[in-house]
Amino acid sequence: MSKFWSPFVKDLVPYVPGEQPKLAKLVKLNTNENPYGPSPKALAAMQAELNDSLRLYPDPNGERLKNAVAEYYDVQANQVFVGNGSDEVLAHIFHGLFQHDKALLFPDITYSFYPVYCGLYGIDFQTVALDEEFQIRVADYARPNGGIIFPNPNAPTGRVLALEAIEQILQASPDSVVVVDEAYIDFGGQSAVALVERYPNLLVTQTLSKSRSLAGMRVGLAIGSAELIEALERIKNSFNSYPLDRLAIVGAAAAFEDREYFETCREKVISSREHLISELSGLGFDILPSAANFIFARHPLKDAAELAVGLRQQGVIVRHFKQARIEQFLRISIGTPEQNQALVDALREL
Ligand code: PMP
Repeated sequence: MSKFWSPFVKDLVPYVPGEQPKLAKLVKLNTNENPYGPSPKALAAMQAELNDSLRLYPDPNGERLKNAVAEYYDVQANQVFVGNGSDEVLAHIFHGLFQHDKALLFPDITYSFYPVYCGLYGIDFQTVALDEEFQIRVADYARPNGGIIFPNPNAPTGRVLALEAIEQILQASPDSVVVVDEAYIDFGGQSAVALVERYPNLLVTQTLSKSRSLAGMRVGLAIGSAELIEALERIKNSFNSYPLDRLAIVGAAAAFEDREYFETCREKVISSREHLISELSGLGFDILPSAANFIFARHPLKDAAELAVGLRQQGVIVRHFKQARIEQFLRISIGTPEQNQALVDALREL
């Protein structure tokens, strides 16, 4: 604490990101990155962009990327917003689209950045408990105004809602902005982008950090009605008009265009997930059904915090949350088959 800090900064409770260790030899299964590298076409596009043009500002609108996303999802380019990671896109949403004097609704077990943004932007919020199966209960999500946000699949549970359930939420809350955070959608869910034509209050956010292996580049996006996207553009242009650099714009666009590489990687991750679930079940773990690139697992007899420490001592990092109701779970990102095997071997020792 410094005497130079304003009361506002003194009161901030920032988000604590997962550890990014310096040791390359650790088996890193703690922050849901993709174990496979980015599309070779994305790398080539960025290499081609490494030239004299870097002295010039990038396209403030990232049109090249917006067009690639619009083409992929069969929407108009003016229905796409791009930003510096979906965390930044979410920041703009919290800042400008959620009403500051009406409580925002989200699950009590969810992405822990949501309450942080509420604190930062002075938004009231109300949380609602997940059901006994750690699933979102659709009936709890009717909101006359004020906004709703949840990830689908949810994090850190990995549980997914069907499109029909999302549609029920949208129908129950036609005057609220409903944000579906689809950071993990490509590993098992159906994207709600299919609903944006019919629901002008729906905003879907996505990231290139997970299924497109570009966490190090920081690109995220939102897709929704042109009126919601225009609001985000206004906010962005009042904050940082050039959120994406030249490399990010061409690399992310090429990643969206390379469907074949994307499909291959996601299938590998999904099949590794199913294999890991069966291995860990064999070791006595209870694992929630997962539609994400991670699993949420607990052992009926072993303490999760101790398991996380024991794994770390053997060079495997997973994520443990101290939050009530989930303190006996570990969130384990899906790695390569070799990394997953290293985890299973380490767990056998504990
Ligand atoms: N939403 C959820 C649910 C996440 O788990 C994450 C990753 N921590 C993000 C958004 C942010 O992803 P990024 O900023 O890398 O796009």
